Amino acid sequence: MITNQPTPRDYKSLADSCLTQAFDIIFETDKIIDNHQKKLDEEIVWEYLQDKLNASVVLIHQAIEANMKSVVCSTSPYLLIEGKKNEWPVLPNQGNKRFDEFFSISSESLVYVFFATARDSYDDKIADHIEYIRKLRNQIVHGISRNRLTARDLISYILDTYTFFDGLDAWWDSLRNYYFEHPFNAGMDQGELETVVFIERLTYAWKKIGKSSFSKHFSVNTKERSYFCPYCLPEDKALLKKYDYKWAFLFPEGKNASLIRCINCTNDNQVSRVSCPIEGCAGTVIWEDYLCLTCGREIRDELRKKKEAITKIIASLSVSANTH
Ligand SMILES: [Zn+2]
Ligand SMILES: [Zn+2]
Repeated sequence: MITNQPTPRDYKSLADSCLTQAFDIIFETDKIIDNHQKKLDEEIVWEYLQDKLNASVVLIHQAIEANMKSVVCSTSPYLLIEGKKNEWPVLPNQGNKRFDEFFSISSESLVYVFFATARDSYDDKIADHIEYIRKLRNQIVHGISRNRLTARDLISYILDTYTFFDGLDAWWDSLRNYYFEHPFNAGMDQGELETVVFIERLTYAWKKIGKSSFSKHFSVNTKERSYFCPYCLPEDKALLKKYDYKWAFLFPEGKNASLIRCINCTNDNQVSRVSCPIEGCAGTVIWEDYLCLTCGREIRDELRKKKEAITKIIASLSVSANTH
């Protein structure tokens, strides 16, 4: 019998974990560069730290293989075993052998078995992505890599890997799940978590790969104007100077949008499209007659005053109409 057979879920968690580590190697280093007491030249530091970028490539490659194995495994884990079938201890009364004691199929074969068993339709570009990362990883592991990688390239490869295998929003869903369960974050309330852990990473990825590449990974159009989310807007307004809190986008797109979806907390909220009464704010997206999602200010009092002023004007108009 072949024991300890892996499940698609085992490989999927391995893939997600590798990608999370690959992202964090770069994110944490860039954070140190940013917060360093001396102003550092990012390019020079990353030139020196190519080994970190190389380690990240190896993890991305491992994640890609694990993703492919997860798919193959949902047909049968036996397809991942290399070698002669007549050496399998599967006849009656033969002993046991653990799955991980067998040789596994080569990277080159894995790609073919993956496409042969894939039931979902994938973007055609996934094959180029798999091959590109495989070559990059081989140059690092089997030779002396002369590549000059950048943090930006790596963040793109990581997000692409998520989106190619699991579709839009996959990167963000996986990151949220990972950090919600992280023991370091036990005891943090959801608001804190969303600020410190999540918003920092969203802002980082957005700045690193740019607006247009970033938007390829979400189901809402993040190239459009962004708004505050009623749920994520912090009570401590000092935080607004420190972090970028506008991660909510109108949908469906166009003038009739009546919902706002926050990619940070993944909540949807109904909004009304009326003008913000605060002077100097051109906002037209209001949540529950109470909060302007453009300037982030509470507008209940202003709205009441505006309504009173309008009532007075109407009343005075009808008085003057009656006296004529
Ligand atoms: Zn939110
Ligand atoms: Zn406003």
